[in-house]
Amino acid sequence: MSEAVQHDWQRRSLRAVWHPCTQMARAERVPPLPIARGEGPWLYDHQGRRYFDANSSWWVNLFGHADPALNAAIKHQLDTLPHVMLAGCTHEPAVRLAERLSARTGGVLGHLFFGSDGASAVEIALKQSFHSWRNRGRDTKREFVCLKNGYHGETIGALAVTDVAVFRDAYDPLLMQAHIVTSPDQRLGNEQQALDDLRALLSERAHHVAAVIVEPLVQGAAGMVMHAPSYLRQVRALCREFDVHLIADEIAVGCGRTGTFFAWDQVAPASAQDWPDFLLLSKGITGGTMPLSLVLTTDEVYQAFWSDDVARGFLHSHSYTGNPLACAAANAVLDRFDAGQLTANQQQAGLLTAAFAPLASHPQVSHLRQRGTILAFDVTTKVERFSERFHLAAREHELLIRPIGQTVYLMPPYLIDEGAAAFLAGAVQASLEEVLHAA
Ligand SMILES: *Cc1c(COP(=O)(O)O)cnc(C)c1O
Repeated sequence: MSEAVQHDWQRRSLRAVWHPCTQMARAERVPPLPIARGEGPWLYDHQGRRYFDANSSWWVNLFGHADPALNAAIKHQLDTLPHVMLAGCTHEPAVRLAERLSARTGGVLGHLFFGSDGASAVEIALKQSFHSWRNRGRDTKREFVCLKNGYHGETIGALAVTDVAVFRDAYDPLLMQAHIVTSPDQRLGNEQQALDDLRALLSERAHHVAAVIVEPLVQGAAGMVMHAPSYLRQVRALCREFDVHLIADEIAVGCGRTGTFFAWDQVAPASAQDWPDFLLLSKGITGGTMPLSLVLTTDEVYQAFWSDDVARGFLHSHSYTGNPLACAAANAVLDRFDAGQLTANQQQAGLLTAAFAPLASHPQVSHLRQRGTILAFDVTTKVERFSERFHLAAREHELLIRPIGQTVYLMPPYLIDEGAAAFLAGAVQASLEEVLHAA
C-alpha cells in the first residue's frame, strides 16, 4: 500500500472527523496517523510501517490488538445475543461479570451498576453517593472533594471533579464547584501535608460533603503522579471518621495495571471497612475491544435506595447499559486473571524496570518512577512543544507514544518480554536524544 493511500485517509479524516483531545488547527500540521490494522502490541499503517502501542491506545488495550481469545468471546456472543436492554431483562454475561467482580472484593462491593465510558461511571458514582445520603435524610451532603491535578473524565459532572486546567477552564462557569485538596506526590514527599489538608477540610465541611474521589496509586492524566498505599489507607480512615463516601476511580489503574488486580488490593484490605464505598472500572476491563464501565458499591449504599417508592430508586440508565458483547469481552479479560495474569504482569514490570534503569543517570531525566506496568520520567528541557516533538520523533522509531507535558510515560500492553523491553528502552532513548539535540 502506498503513501498516497495514507495521505488520502489523513485528508478525508481532517475534513470529516472531529478528533478528540485535539486542536484541529494543529492537526493540520500533525495529521493523524491512519492505522490499517493491529496485531499484538503493533499497529500498522497503510504504508506497511509498524508502531509499538506503548500507551495501549489510551490505556485500554491490555493484551494487544486483535487478541484471539477476546475476539472469540465477542464473536460467540455476537452470534448468541448482541444486545438486550438491562431494565426488565438480564443475561448471563452481565450476571457472571457482576458476580466475579464482587468476588474479587470479597463480596464487600457486591452491587454492580453498568455504564458505558469512564466518565459515565464517574457520573453514576457521584449521583449514587448524593442520592443515597438524601434517601437517608442527609440532603445537606451534596459537595464533592477531589485531588489537585486529578482527572475523572470530561462530561459536566466528571469535569467538575477534574482539576486539569486545559480540559476544565473553558467550562468552569457550567460546573458545580468541588473542593480541591493537596494531592500526594512521591516526588514532593508531601503525603502528610495532603492528609492534613483533607482532614482540615472534612473537619469543617463534612456535614456538606457526600464523597471524596481519588485515583488510587497513580494520577494518570496529571502525568503519572504516584503515591503510596499508606495514603489511601489513611484517606479511607478519614472518610470513615467524618462519615463521607470514598470513591476509588480505578478506570485507569484497575485490571492489573499496578501489579494487583485492583490498585486497592495494595491497601491490603483486611475487612469490609478497608474498602472504598465505590470502585470504578473501565478502560482495560474489555481489553480495548468494547466501551464499558462499571460502578461497584456496597450493600449499605444499595439499601439506601431500597423502597416501594419509585423515586427513591436509582433511575439512571444508558441505552447500552450492560451490553452483552462488552460483558463477554470483560469476562474473557477476567479469565486471563483467573489463569495467572498477575504473575506475568509482575515479571513484565521487572523487565521494564531493568531496561529503563540506565535512563535514571541521564542528566535531563528525573523522577524515573514505576507502578506495575506504568513507567514514567520527567524531562528537563526548554524545547518548545516537547510532547509533540517527542511523539513525532518516536514515530520514526516505530514507537507510538504521547508524553503528557514533559513527562514521558509508558503503559504498554501486557506483552512485554526481554526483546520488547529492550526495544522500548532503546526507542525512547533515541527519541529523547533527537528531541533534546534539536534544541
Ligand atoms: C480515562 C479516565 C476517565 C474517563 O474515562 P473515559 O472513558 O475517557 O470517559 C476517568 N477517570 C480516570 C482515572 C481516567 O483515567
